Amino acid sequence: MFKNFKSVGKCVFGRGSFNQLDSILAEKRANSASYVVFLLDNYFKDKALAQRIPLQPQDHLIYINVDEHEPTTEQIDELNQHIRKLSPTLPVALVGIGGGSVMDITKATSMMLTNDGLSTQYQGLNLIKNQGVFHVGVPTLAGTGAEVSMTAVLTGPTKKLGIKCDYTVFDQIILDSELVADVPQNQWFYTGMDTYIHCIESLTGTMLNEFSRSYGVKSLELCREVFNQFGQSAEGDEKLMIASYMGGLSLTYSEVGVCHALSYGLSYVFGYRHGIANCIAFDELPDYYGESVTEFKSMVKKHNIHIPKGLSKNWTEEEVAKMAQTAYALEHMWKHAVGAHWKEVITKEKIMALYYRM
Ligand code: NAD
Ligand code: ZN
Repeated sequence: MFKNFKSVGKCVFGRGSFNQLDSILAEKRANSASYVVFLLDNYFKDKALAQRIPLQPQDHLIYINVDEHEPTTEQIDELNQHIRKLSPTLPVALVGIGGGSVMDITKATSMMLTNDGLSTQYQGLNLIKNQGVFHVGVPTLAGTGAEVSMTAVLTGPTKKLGIKCDYTVFDQIILDSELVADVPQNQWFYTGMDTYIHCIESLTGTMLNEFSRSYGVKSLELCREVFNQFGQSAEGDEKLMIASYMGGLSLTYSEVGVCHALSYGLSYVFGYRHGIANCIAFDELPDYYGESVTEFKSMVKKHNIHIPKGLSKNWTEEEVAKMAQTAYALEHMWKHAVGAHWKEVITKEKIMALYYRM
């Protein structure tokens, strides 16, 4: 069976395009009672962007704190209950403005507003029954591809797994690179590298096909321009936003690989954020990704980025085994990276040895 995937409904791209949000929402506001809920990354609380939100008196602005942990099922359930209590009717739109975390929170909350129960019930593929609330994604970090993907990644009590179905995809996205202009350098690199690693993994596995290759090759070319040449600049920011979008599309028809499997373990057991967890893992994967790891190291050096090292000396065997278990369970990633026979090659002990290098 070939994947029959759903793409983002509409996309606005360009510097300053955030100003178009008001007119986009106007189409949804049928009468004076129609209200919009904005989910804004806490980082922007005292920043100019908070003042630029086209808030009407009946709307609600909710600040989302993503500093302590990546999105959890508990957080989605609380937010869902909170929004349901705001009014007897549903919002006409849910707008998420922030990094990959806020985008995933927006996608998941949009689903939970129209589907009963708890978000843990829906972690998996095609478990959502009803279409969600019209949802808009406005990324303020470039790299995760969450703006274009079908997944809302959530950490639950027993697993880190996305809610994934046709409905999860954003109905509208606004790609305005002005919003990523002031990202601190380490964060810029960690999130941006998510795209670089998406492309390397997508392009070097068994599920690769021309669709994924075309987007992946172009995205990788843009990443190289950004990290080797343009850096954090107006031009570099535009390129990284498009690289993120195309890297996400490359993944849609392919898969991530060894680095993401290990990264999920690091995030699940120790709470490392996705971008930095990828960098910690990728740095130790020359056996799998060869020259790309050499290139990655040169980019780290060029931008003087801190990649944590020597972590495993403080880990217990149980913790390493738990990470290995988390990584091993991501069968589709190993299958893509190693092949259908991956279980003959990859063992939990082998994965533990990779963690001990970190
Ligand atoms: P993030 O959203 O977790 O944010 C990281 C930090 O940067 C936060 O403290 C945030 O407040 C801050 N921040 C956001 N915008 C900023 C700005 N413009 N300037 C300064 N600081 C800013 O980081 P991320 O790397 O974009 O996203 C990681 C999340 O994305 C993880 O939860 C991961 O699971 C998820 N993810 C999802 C997909 C998907 O397909 N859905 C793919 C990859 C990653
Ligand atoms: Zn990723």
